[in-house]
Amino acid sequence: MNWPATERHRLTPAPGGLALVQDLLNTAPADHSASADLPDLLADGALDRAQEWADAAVRGWAGETGRGDVRLVLTADDLPKLRCLRDQLRRALAADDGGGDAVRFTSAPVVVSLGGDGCLAVEPEGAGARWLASAVLAEGLLAQASGVWRRLKICRNGTCAVAFYDRSRNNSGVWHSVRGCGNAAHLRACRERRRAKA
Ligand SMILES: [Zn+2]
Repeated sequence: MNWPATERHRLTPAPGGLALVQDLLNTAPADHSASADLPDLLADGALDRAQEWADAAVRGWAGETGRGDVRLVLTADDLPKLRCLRDQLRRALAADDGGGDAVRFTSAPVVVSLGGDGCLAVEPEGAGARWLASAVLAEGLLAQASGVWRRLKICRNGTCAVAFYDRSRNNSGVWHSVRGCGNAAHLRACRERRRAKA
């Protein structure tokens, strides 16, 4: 399993390295019809579970982006930092929707290299949470440059809030699952309309 956090929602991961950003977002606890009460994969006191997630996600990222083995070691101190990064990313994606204020949430160093083949590459720097922040922000930058960043979205169902990649032609999706969260919202709206009429 390359993207354990995203795959636990039975979602197709975002293309390329952007799936790392999506997978970090999906480590958050979630509750929706398809899979109720999924735990926070970055909760304090569960370092083994967080490390297991990081091992798989970093392996997935290395595979998707054609890199060799990358080993990321998390410590207990990394967990609150990663949850903070995750919250900031979530808010940034939500702001992208409605034109929020340009607040600088976070920053991380990266190394940009020019290879003999003429290709430029962005490499994450640091260790632990710093490395992950660097990798995630670099992938976000590349996704913005290629125009796919705006397809990474947070499900509009507040209790769900799963990160999904919108593959619709006009990028109009708002639910991680039209049949699940979308249908539940539709039924709720119908019921309210009926009540208003009565
Ligand atoms: Zn949802």
